[in-house]
Amino acid sequence: MSDLTDHLRFYQDLGVAGVSRDPKWRARIDSRRERGAEDQPVRDDATLVPEAGLGQPVTIARSAAEALAAIREDLGDCTRCKLHTQGRRQIVFGVGSPDAELMFVGEAPGADEDVQGIPFVGRAGQLLTKMIEAMGLRRDEVYIANVIKCRPPGNRNPEPDEIASCEPFLIRQIAAINPKVIVALGAFAAKTLTKTDAPISRLRGRAFEYAGATLIPTFHPSFLLRSPGYKREAWEDLKKALAALGRELPRPAGS
Ligand code: SF4
Repeated sequence: MSDLTDHLRFYQDLGVAGVSRDPKWRARIDSRRERGAEDQPVRDDATLVPEAGLGQPVTIARSAAEALAAIREDLGDCTRCKLHTQGRRQIVFGVGSPDAELMFVGEAPGADEDVQGIPFVGRAGQLLTKMIEAMGLRRDEVYIANVIKCRPPGNRNPEPDEIASCEPFLIRQIAAINPKVIVALGAFAAKTLTKTDAPISRLRGRAFEYAGATLIPTFHPSFLLRSPGYKREAWEDLKKALAALGRELPRPAGS
């Protein structure tokens, strides 16, 4: 019961009035193949063309799952940057549906993620899961990855040479999944994907185009744990992501 109470309290913090028991709102509105012109996401900002994928091995795959498996194989027991010598236990590649329409991109693994090999499994990950569920989705319907695949020591910020070595694999993951919407979690992911130095407070609330997807920056769940007063702004960003997906907001129960 306390889980349910926590869950409902979280919705209340976000400003969500209630949840629907109607299973129809969970259904995908359309498939990517059936996407109509009227369903194209609104993009009010610059078009971003990732370049770091150039020069990477060409992956010929029949499915997104095969493409992701090939990218993971190319990554191998990676020693491309100094993070492989700085205490990482394992590479944290990504988790979720290869066919996801919605992808979340964070910064780098933390201690819990380094132990489990899965992104966003600590307290911040639990909050991210609640955010996904508040959108009317399940965690296994989306794809979650980080810009950097190995834990930086002491959770320090990733350094430019580490980003240069690791970002090409994120770009390939995005190309394989071909999501309709990407939510960048936190300043680091937002700055990396938008190629700007603008603070997250200026990037959030806006939509960019990134490799054919709508890119929506928002606050990192770790920041929201420290500063819960910003959850409402994060929810506004997630509503923007839902609109770009062509999905309706979960309706209050009984409505
Ligand atoms: S952070 Fe990325 S580039 Fe660096 S060692 Fe890990 S997987 Fe390789």
